[in-house]
Amino acid sequence: MIIVSVALQVPLRKTFDYSAGKNDLEKLKPGVRVYVPFGKQKHKVGILVETKNSSQIAREKIKPISSVLDETPVLSEAELKMVHWSADYYQHPIGEVLFNALPVSLRQGKEAKIVNPVLWQLTKQGAVYNSELLKTAPKQRAILEFLLSKAAPVTAENIREKFSTPLPVLQALEKKCLIEKTVSVSQESKAIDDNVSLNDDQIFACDSIAKSIGRHQVFLLDGVTGSGKTEVYIELIKKVVKSGKQVLILSPEIGLTPQLIERIQNRVSARMAVLHSGLSSSERMQAWLQARNGTADIILGTRSAIWTPLLKPGLFIVDEEHDVSYKQQDGFKYSARDLAIIRSSFTSCPVILGSATPSMESLNNVEARKYHLLRLDKRAGSAEQADIEIIDLRNKAMEGAFSQVMLSAIEKELSHRKQVLLFLNRRGYAPAFMCHHCGWIAKCDRCESNMTFHKSRGILSCHHCGRQESSRRNCPGCEMNDFIEIGHGTERLSETLTKCFPKAKILRIDRDSTRRKGSMEDMLDLIKAGDADILIGTQMLAKGHHFPALTLVGIVDIDGGLCSTDFRASERMAQLFVQVSGRAGREKSQGKVLLQTHFPDHPLLNSLIKKGYRSFADELLKERKLTVLPPFSFLALFRSEGIKQESQLKFLEKVRNLLKTDNQQFQIYGPYPAPIEKRAGKIRMQLLVMSESRSILNKILKKNTAAIEGLPETRKIRWSLDIDPQDMM
Ligand code: ADP
Ligand code: ZN
Ligand code: ZN
Repeated sequence: MIIVSVALQVPLRKTFDYSAGKNDLEKLKPGVRVYVPFGKQKHKVGILVETKNSSQIAREKIKPISSVLDETPVLSEAELKMVHWSADYYQHPIGEVLFNALPVSLRQGKEAKIVNPVLWQLTKQGAVYNSELLKTAPKQRAILEFLLSKAAPVTAENIREKFSTPLPVLQALEKKCLIEKTVSVSQESKAIDDNVSLNDDQIFACDSIAKSIGRHQVFLLDGVTGSGKTEVYIELIKKVVKSGKQVLILSPEIGLTPQLIERIQNRVSARMAVLHSGLSSSERMQAWLQARNGTADIILGTRSAIWTPLLKPGLFIVDEEHDVSYKQQDGFKYSARDLAIIRSSFTSCPVILGSATPSMESLNNVEARKYHLLRLDKRAGSAEQADIEIIDLRNKAMEGAFSQVMLSAIEKELSHRKQVLLFLNRRGYAPAFMCHHCGWIAKCDRCESNMTFHKSRGILSCHHCGRQESSRRNCPGCEMNDFIEIGHGTERLSETLTKCFPKAKILRIDRDSTRRKGSMEDMLDLIKAGDADILIGTQMLAKGHHFPALTLVGIVDIDGGLCSTDFRASERMAQLFVQVSGRAGREKSQGKVLLQTHFPDHPLLNSLIKKGYRSFADELLKERKLTVLPPFSFLALFRSEGIKQESQLKFLEKVRNLLKTDNQQFQIYGPYPAPIEKRAGKIRMQLLVMSESRSILNKILKKNTAAIEGLPETRKIRWSLDIDPQDMM
């Protein structure tokens, strides 16, 4: 009898033993999927971890596997190594890590087979058709015009990105013989323009990295916004692809990927696979398989793309490496940036971490000579860095959220037909809603936080748990109907600006206004076409975008970043500030940034504005060193939540006792209530552990997780462990 250890998608830090017949021996390799009986389920998908000759479990209790799903492992040796490393480092159940590494279709047991994607193209008749004739069928007309605007056949996926539920519309057009399906064989994109000549700094960066191809080295490409980091990536991508190897590129936000994809496709002739959360599960699996069998040369995606298998890895690129979205916040809490570094070391590849505002972790690794620093200090092309000016808000007359200085500056820019961006990282109309008569304030009863007022939708919404209720009712306190809105969100900014500049075209871009599929792209098109004068945006608009006509950036409020209790708040504030500022004056006209604040003398703010991000980062690093906070120490956070506090307290006390050692380099804090003590009806507690040594932290946790998992309290509460937590809430 052969015993196989099988990982299942269950939150337990162990594998399960089954028996297998000799007939299957050929196929029984680590990384192969099997069906096994588990509890009441007859066929649960599992992944084989190892085969062995004996088991701790009594022979008669071992059940046989039902069947083997794959001829060859879905994960290769290199990927399995990553999985095991991650399960160990993040102290996360191996089954969950393994399944996380697979696209959903494969987790469900679907066949790992490549099928060529369906493309839609115009028929001869469709190509000359007058779309006016479809006046009464606006959806058909829109898709037809979309296809008319494209020179080549378009994938069904591309159409779905722009239009919701397009299938019946496509079928109607097909019936009219205006469009037809075709199947793509090779999707190699052909580069069109290629005439950028790199400047000296870019050449130096490219050469340094190129020399490391074939071995592991981490490069921190620290270049101001618009300095041409992307050009450096493109140059290296070309080199690596030409040598027959693959490049994996991580981008922090799905909203940014279309631009990056287009830019790379225009410049590099290669086959590209894109992975992001907007894909259907079968599309995701196809992209994943193309990467695995080497038919994709370039793989681009958001966080989870780090789990894409690669046949011939050559280079890893993590764009905007400081971005928090690289850390998964729930379930398996990995950092895609950190895994890119590990993965590049396992596969002997260079990895580029690019940013205009590197994280404290990466800067410290440069200091420690672990990473190689490459700098691009000037903007490429003709653009200069924007001028920055502080507006002291104290005791000033305001028009809504705006000072007079800000409004005059906007007016001036508009009179020169330039675009203005106003940044506020708070969506909705107002963050608080109060009864003027009795002082009642709308709070979420499940989170103990204020409800945000969304005027256009007539609702109050909790931004912590998503609960919504109508705002069109009487005050529950006094039955009167006389409310006042406190504070400002993007929706309210829009209202104020409409009043001040009635002729201006105002565009608000935040999660509310871009909910509809394709709307973000539509808005970006409007901006590029010059069909918007004032842009109001949250961080969605702050990152990466290139708006040629934009000359003034007004930062309405980032004071929150200066007075938060989270030790990372000032780093985040500075990164966001630099990113937003980087949107101003990216072409010929000089850009300007105006920052409104009630703390004009704040020392960190001043070093950021007067001396720039690097000086700011130096000071912040010194501060972190003094206080022994990351990157000078390593954290792990136990979180628990449940209906009652007692069982959590008992649980975390026990965790504390288990972890207790006399090791001087290991500290435990708590249990204490989480900063957001109640969320979605649950009470939340935390226990923080900390060490100056990563390996001591890992060792102590590793020794105890099995015992922690076995504590009886775990049945009554939910708990999780977050290694290197980014969000302490
Ligand atoms: P980053 O990625 O650092 O923000 P980009 O690569 O997007 O910078 O470059 C900013 C702008 O400068 C882009 O429009 C790009 O085409 C242009 N650019 C970059 N490098 C050069 C160069 N060597 N010569 C001319 N233009 C360049
Ligand atoms: Zn009232
Ligand atoms: Zn809530």
